[in-house]
Order: sequence, then structure tokens, then C-alpha cells
Amino acid sequence: MKKLFFCVIVLLLIPVCCYAEVRGKAGEKARWSISEDGVLTISGTPPLYTYDEYDDLYYERPWFKYNDRISSITVNKGFIDLPAYCFYGLSNVTSVSLPDSIKYIGYAAFEGCSSLTSIVIPQGVKWIDFLTFSGCSNLSDILIPESVGVIQQGAFERCRSLSKIILPGNTDFVEDSFDKGITIVSSCNSRSRASALEYGLKWEMYGTHDLVRQDGHEPTCVEPGNEPYWECSKCHAYFSDSDGENEIDAPVLIPIVDHTVVIDPEVPATCTATGLTAGSHCSVCHKVFVAQEVTEKIDHTYAFVPEVEATCYSEGASMGIICNVCGKWLVAPTVTPMKSHTIVDSGAVAPTETAAGHTEGKICSVCGAIIEGIEIPALCNMNVLYLPASVKHIEDYSFTGIDCQAIIIPFGCETIGEHAFADCASVLYVKIPSSVVSCPQNAFSECNPDVFLDFSAN
Ligand SMILES: [Zn+2]
Ligand SMILES: [Zn+2]
Ligand SMILES: [Zn+2]
Ligand SMILES: [Zn+2]
Repeated sequence: MKKLFFCVIVLLLIPVCCYAEVRGKAGEKARWSISEDGVLTISGTPPLYTYDEYDDLYYERPWFKYNDRISSITVNKGFIDLPAYCFYGLSNVTSVSLPDSIKYIGYAAFEGCSSLTSIVIPQGVKWIDFLTFSGCSNLSDILIPESVGVIQQGAFERCRSLSKIILPGNTDFVEDSFDKGITIVSSCNSRSRASALEYGLKWEMYGTHDLVRQDGHEPTCVEPGNEPYWECSKCHAYFSDSDGENEIDAPVLIPIVDHTVVIDPEVPATCTATGLTAGSHCSVCHKVFVAQEVTEKIDHTYAFVPEVEATCYSEGASMGIICNVCGKWLVAPTVTPMKSHTIVDSGAVAPTETAAGHTEGKICSVCGAIIEGIEIPALCNMNVLYLPASVKHIEDYSFTGIDCQAIIIPFGCETIGEHAFADCASVLYVKIPSSVVSCPQNAFSECNPDVFLDFSAN
């Protein structure tokens, strides 16, 4: 009984504590080993052996037969390529550690690793090959690094725990890379978004839109306006709000507005210019609603201009006909020459304070022009010698050579002396009252011979 019990204990302990480390060649200079605690380590110097598709070893690696023991995988630094089927079918593996040097994960490399729940794919991996993670049925949400250009056919098929795949870069995939029902999480302008929409997969936004405000425009009578909107500079989607919550197909239009009608006032025609009828147009787009039409010039407004008779001092004119709007003559008047004066004999006329007079001669009875004789200016326009009213006798030579144009001798004066006004060359007029009884011939000797000696006054 004791012996049997011992045997049972031994049998139970063997699988737990008695696995020795195993190891071997994985390449010319590469090694593999499985530690006592089930870590498969790939070490040494790359590359790993690869096998031809028609080789017996194509589907097998030396560590496959220890599948039951292998719980995790560590690939040491330096390895670049994980060949096809590298860790195929290691169904007990729960964790994998890959170095940053890995660039290529080969065909079906992790296919059937059904206990694997997560894996960090290193930044630097270029692509994920056909069937790489196929059948990793416990693999949950996974992040694909930006370095991955494409995920090949079946790479994540039959991964029934995988609900989301996060693609921060511009990674693309083919139609059956994933099972239907997966959600693609990627940026709005990524290739994977387009592929997700094309293949009918669910898609969620990774990151945010990069929204740029676009100004609105007021409508005119020619073009509709639009409300301001926000456009994503990455995916060029339109949004009606700055938060990018309300996506719109196109900017919201504001309808065309009415024309701005302006009345074009009538322009009456004249006798010199055509006119225009009243019209209307739009001051914004210049569309004409009522065209203005040209109206013909109107007739001149003629009026008679009466004849003007010529006189002895001005020319006359014949009758004319003129347009009193524009001044155009229909019949231009002709000039008639001035008439000649109507000459009559005239006695001398004494000047007054304000009116001119003249010496005896001939004048025009119409215009008063002096034809013969000398005009004597009005007294107010001459330098006049007024003798005082008390003067009774003007002595000899009293005013000889005096410089004046007129001399007024007062009534009451009785005698004028010899040469009293001799040599007064400027004198034109002398008033000599009737009270003067003696005035010698030489009183005005050497004066102007035409001097007007006016004896007519009192
Ligand atoms: Zn966007
Ligand atoms: Zn208009
Ligand atoms: Zn006219
Ligand atoms: Zn006259």
C-alpha cells in the first residue's frame, strides 16, 4: 500500500518538477531552448532556419514536440525575420516577447496559439503575413504599429475574442484579414478606414479630426450663400459645428436673394439731344427688367425776335426767328447801319452845375450830339473861379494869367477892367451878368478864341 502510494506521488510529481531544459540549433548560429518553467527562448545570431515549402520540415520546428511544456516565447535581440510557421500551433503559449529588431512576421507564424491573449507587435514590423495570427482564439484587442504597411489575408481570421483592432498609422488590410464583426479603429483619413467602409466592417475614430473653419458667404441675387462650416484637413469631411459632432454632406446653403431693383428715371429729349424712357435694373447683377429706349429729339421752340430800328447812335437789326431753348437761329437777323444825325442850328447853351453846355453851332436834334461848336462841361466838372457877390468893379489886370476853366461873375458887378482876364488860356466859359455895363475888348485878350462869353445870365 505504501509502495503504491509512493508510486502515485512520483507519477504526479514527474510532469511538474522533472522537465529538464532542452535545447538545439535553430539556425546556423541560432539556438533554441525550453527552460524548466516552459519559456521557449530563441537566441544566438540570426537568421533562423527557413524551410522550403516542399521540405518535410516546412510545417515543423524542433520545439513543436514540446508544445505541452511551452507557456511563453522570448525572441532575443537581433532577429529580424520570424519565418513561416515559426510558432505555429503552440497552443499553451500565453505570452510572447519580441525584440524591436523584428521586421517580418511570416506566414502562419502564430497560427493556432489559442491561449495567447495579447501580444505587443514591435514598432518596426513591416507587414503581417497570411494567416499569421489565424486561430488565436483568445487574442483580444490588438494595436498594430504604424510601421505595418499591410495586413495580409486571414492574418486574424478565427480570432473570436478579437473585437477591436487599433491602427494608428496608415496600415491597410485585405478583405478577409479579419472576421466580420470586428471594429476597425483608425484615423479619419487612413486607408484602413476606406477599406473598413468598403468591406462593411464597423469603424471607430482614432484621434480626432483636424477641423479648419471655413467662412460663410452672404447670398446674392446671382449665387446662393452658405453658412460657415468646419472641414477636416485630413479626411475633408464637413461639419456644421466646431466640435466636429455634426457631419454634413456639404456646406449649408443660404438661398439666393431678390434682385436690388433700381429705377432708371426718364430723360426727356430736347431739341439738341435724344432722351430715354424710364426703365429699371438690378444694381448688383445689372440685370435689366425694363430697358430704357431712346426717344427722338424734339422740335426747336422758335420765337420771333422783333426788328430793331437803327438810330443815329446805334445800329439796328432786322426781324429774326430763334429757338429760345438752344439759341439756334432759324432766321438770323441782319444788321442795319446807323442812321445819320438830324442836324439843326443851335444857339449857345450855358452849362449848369450838373449839365454840360456848348457854344453856338449845330447839333443833332435826335441825340443831342454836337456837330459844330465846343462842348462846355458841367460846372461841377470844371475848375471854376467864383467871384464874391460883393464885387462891383474888377480892376485892370486883376486875374491875368489865372489857371481855371470857368469864371462866374456875380450879378451886381458893374465894370470889368482892362486885361482883367487876359492870358487865361484854359478858360472855356465866363458868365457875365447883365449888371455889367463896361467890359473892354481886351478884358479877355490872349484867351482861348472860342471862349464862351455868356451875357445871357442875370
Ligand atoms: Zn477627419
Ligand atoms: Zn441682381
Ligand atoms: Zn432748339
Ligand atoms: Zn443824332
